[in-house]
Amino acid sequence: MSEICLKNIRKTYENGTTVIENLNLKIESGSFTVLVGPSGCGKSTTLRMIAGLEDTTDGEIYIDGKLMNHVEPGDRDIAMVFQNYALYPTMTVKGNIEFGLINAKVPKAERERLIEEIAGIVDLTEHLHKKPSQLSGGQRQRVALARAMVKKPKVFLMDEPLSNLDAKLRNQMRSELIELHHKLGVTFVYVTHDQVEALSMATDIVLMEKGVIRQHSTPHEIYAS
Ligand code: ADP
Ligand code: ADP
Repeated sequence: MSEICLKNIRKTYENGTTVIENLNLKIESGSFTVLVGPSGCGKSTTLRMIAGLEDTTDGEIYIDGKLMNHVEPGDRDIAMVFQNYALYPTMTVKGNIEFGLINAKVPKAERERLIEEIAGIVDLTEHLHKKPSQLSGGQRQRVALARAMVKKPKVFLMDEPLSNLDAKLRNQMRSELIELHHKLGVTFVYVTHDQVEALSMATDIVLMEKGVIRQHSTPHEIYAS
């Protein structure tokens, strides 16, 4: 579990456009925080700055009180899942999940243990030896989640991970993500432009508009207002 703190963040891209203006945000440890707002308001940029995939122009990012600005993405103890989760098509499900662990030089026995554990959590135990092409869309998405989670990150970032799925599957995956959040107990930060999706999953909703935060509240407070 990890608290994320963004202080006075400004982001100006190389072309001179400022897309985030003095953003202050505290993401509670263990929360399922959803950043919601119209396309282009700066949600992905914010997420990528937390991940370290994008520099901040001004301001500080803290995780558990530690300044992250100059910490490399690989050393932030964060995993990220994108909309276009590319699996390696020639590798098995197990190979896809194992790849990052091999890169991180995790010993074989420990890799086996971690893969077995994560496969159980996302219900892929029966499918570990299949190729991605033999899986359904939902199962493939679960492989992408498993691959991101297997290194046990303290923070899990997701950028519209369900937007390529059909409506029925999207609904099912929402329930699965809520369950996954309960099981893992880590901090989830999830980006979507879909208010219904935000309300259905979040413990905390951050409403963004043109690079600033309009509102930070719980779904309960939103329903009550
Ligand atoms: P969202 O995720 O809310 O759709 P983004 O963070 O992707 O918003 O984008 C916010 C704004 O920043 C948009 O106007 C987008 O065009 C712009 N933007 C994103 N990436 C870059 C970039 N690399 N260079 C310049 N502008 C960018
Ligand atoms: P999203 O799905 O989050 O809205 P986009 O389709 O806006 O993402 O952006 C896809 C990629 O293009 C991102 O890597 C983003 O940084 C980049 N990008 C977006 N807007 C611009 C821009 N105005 N100038 C340069 N790059 C951009």
